[in-house]
This record gives sequence, C-alpha cells and structure tokens, in this order.
Amino acid sequence: MMHDPARIVSTGGALMISLLVFGCLAQDGETVSGEARRPDVILLTIDTLRADHLSCYGYTRPTSPRIDELAADGIRFEQAVSASAYTGPSVASILTGRYPRFHSFGYSNVRARLRGDEVTLADRFLDAGYTTAAFVCNPVLSSRAGFSQGFELYDAEMNEMEAVRDAEERTGPVVADAVTSWLDDRKTNEPIFLWVHFQDPHGPYLPPEGFRNQFHSDDPGVRIADPIDDDHSGKGRVPAYQAVRSTHHLEEYVDRYDGEILAADASLGAILDKLRSQGRYDPSLILLTADHGEAFGENGYFFAHGQDVTRDQSHVPLLLKHPDLPSARSVKTPVSHIDIFPTLTAVLGPQEGMGFGSPLDLGSLLSASNHPVSKRLLFCDIGNRLGVFGDDGFVVGQLKTRKATDIVSLGPEDFHRVGLFKMKANESPIGWDSHSAALEAEALRYLTEPSADFASLTPRGHHLRMLRALGYTEE
Ligand SMILES: [Zn+2]
Repeated sequence: MMHDPARIVSTGGALMISLLVFGCLAQDGETVSGEARRPDVILLTIDTLRADHLSCYGYTRPTSPRIDELAADGIRFEQAVSASAYTGPSVASILTGRYPRFHSFGYSNVRARLRGDEVTLADRFLDAGYTTAAFVCNPVLSSRAGFSQGFELYDAEMNEMEAVRDAEERTGPVVADAVTSWLDDRKTNEPIFLWVHFQDPHGPYLPPEGFRNQFHSDDPGVRIADPIDDDHSGKGRVPAYQAVRSTHHLEEYVDRYDGEILAADASLGAILDKLRSQGRYDPSLILLTADHGEAFGENGYFFAHGQDVTRDQSHVPLLLKHPDLPSARSVKTPVSHIDIFPTLTAVLGPQEGMGFGSPLDLGSLLSASNHPVSKRLLFCDIGNRLGVFGDDGFVVGQLKTRKATDIVSLGPEDFHRVGLFKMKANESPIGWDSHSAALEAEALRYLTEPSADFASLTPRGHHLRMLRALGYTEE
C-alpha cells in the first residue's frame, strides 16, 4: 500500500511541500527508517482549451464534470496565462520553465526544436529516479522536435484517420487506453512522472459519437465567411482546416467545440479512475493546464490561435492537486506556464535559480500573503506581439511590431503600444495611461534581455503533411 511522504512544512509563513526520501531525512535527530515513497507527478495538458469553456471556470454548460472534480480536490488558478498562443513554444515553456524568448524552441511552431542541452521536467524526474513516460498526439510535439527528451517512453502514435482531412490523429479514448495499459504494467514501486496531452478540442471540431449533439444553441449566431483554400489564419472567415460541411455559424462551431471538451474530459476521467483504482490518485501531485486558448470572433479571428496574445488565446485553465494543499480553493494571483517547472519539481527538493520572470512554485502561493508575486508581471509572447499581464484585474498591455518578419532579432524599438485591455471582459483597448508605466517598463526589460539561441528544424515528408493538415503551416 502506498503512503504519502509529503507534508506541509510551515517556515516563517512560507508553505512548502517537503518530502521524506527513502529514509534519508533526519527527524528529531533520528534517521527515519521507513521507506517513504516520493509522490507520483502527473502533468495533464489539453490542446486549445479556453479556461472560460470549463464549468469550473464559470461556463454555463456542463462541459467538464471530471475536470471539475479535480478542481474540487485542489487549487484553481483563475488567471493563468499561457507563455505563447502556439503549441510548440507553449509546451516548451511548460517543460523548461522559460518564456519562448529564452528557450531553444523559440517562436516557430513548426521549424523549431528543443535542443538537447535544455533541462526539462522529464530530465529532472529521470535523474531523480522516477519512471518517465509521455503520451502525446500532436505532430508539433514530435520526438524529432526534441519533446521526448528525458522520457523513457514517448508514445506519440497516431493511428486513426481524421474524418475530414488526410491526417492521422489519436482521440482521447485511445490515449486513455494507452495510458491506463501502461499504468497497469507498472510492476515496480518507482514513482512516475507522467505527461498526457489530449488533442481533442483542437480543430476541426468533430466530437466523437456520443458527444456530437450534447450542446445545441437555439440561436446559431452570426454567419462566418467560408474558408479560402490554404488560409488557416481565421481572420474574418473559417480557417480552411476547420471547415465542417453544412456548418456556417459561430454558435454551431462553439457547440461542436464544447462537445470536444466534454469528450476530452471523459477520457481524462478514465485516467483519473485508473489512478484511483491503483491508489495513486490521492497521494499524487497533479497539474492540469492547456497550451493555449482559441478565438471565437475576438478581434476578428474565428476558430484560430497563435495569431494574437489576447485573453481568448492566452487564458488557460491551471489546476493543482496534492494531498497537502487545500482543496476547492481559488487563487486570483496571475500565474504562468513558466511556473509549472518549479511547481512540479518542488517534490524533488529546493529549486536552483530559475530564469527570467521569477518562475514560482505555485504550491507556495497559498500562505504567502506578502509574497512578491503580487508585483510580478507575466508574458504571452508570439514573437511579433507581446502581452504583458499585470495583477490588477488581469490587464494586458499589448505590444505589436511594425514588421512581421525576422522576429528573432526584434528589440524594444521594433514594438509599439497597442493598448491596455481589461481582460476580464475582453474589452476594447482602454488607452495607455500612467498605470501602464510598470507594464511597459517590464516589457522593455523583457525585450532587452538577450534571447536564446533558437534551434531550427526542417519538417519534411510525413511530418510536413501532418503539420499542414492541422493548419500549422501553409508550406
Ligand atoms: Zn496547441
């Protein structure tokens, strides 16, 4: 039977998850003789998932009963900001704890790779004696692009064919089957670091049987212009890869998207059930997030992401569960993808110095009433646009370049102010007043930091075809 080694230690008001590691930690001068097992660490990511389309984030539709359970068992971060609005750069930030400007993957979604000298979450857990495994199903997250680094098992199989495109996929139930089979095969008592990435809400929105007609709007909403060949931008019209026959209206697409979320939720629930049946759920550290959101007409974009850094594309869910953290708690402090690395590796011991932006162990936020995090500004960075997120009502000061090319070498002089947005309502710009001085100063500090040396990748053959089918490239 597994037991929980982690406990809360209160030191000067700071809350920390500590752990007793295989009897090596002294207690009252004595060595603890029992074999305390380190907690399993489970990272769940869902592609293209807007926080505001989850019931636990206030959505009126019941899209997420199983995710809601996880929220009820842990902490819900109300204002989590993705590091990018693209899959590759965001996931690289999740795995390294660095913003896109400062990791080797950089800004490109399809021409980039994570270099081998990066220290990833999987590297840290593997070095600490964990069994590491990942189950992903997005062609951007390929082994070739470096995302498999540190994983003993990197299952990126996609054996199903999509209904409307010449592209393979792997839907939630198949992912869940692969994960639960792997969990069944665990014979050793080694702790696991498990990463599961669900792709279901990513377009085209084609919920599987049983989830197709779960949601139906009485009013189909505005009609969206039909796609033009190879235009995947979503600017003013349905992206080519998103077009679903006989579906032309905004709310019809939203109905389908919500069905995809419910389907992913059910598959995720199957994994939680397996963890429970194995006695792994209660003692584990579980974190759920999304790589980015999706636009549903905001700023003229439909069913698209990666085009902007506004709330629709950058506000993601972030849930954290551990038995020594409070349950059913909400935290308003804005947090970022870069916080995931120190949050998960906190179970391995004290953190070494993290990079730009002061990534935080989110488990420590709860009792830190005077924590400097309240002054921290966060970024969503897609290269030619930079969102700077403050503490006051989730405000973003957005900077935009005059030029869209050669974004690697952009400096502060290349950006101009777009405006200050009240992000809660996705309102129009509210001007750039004196309150935005801190946002701008931090943005300039970010932009004057030397960027990483980005590593490139040339997608070819099957890899290129898959990326093209998913709307990631028009090459
Ligand atoms: Zn994505």
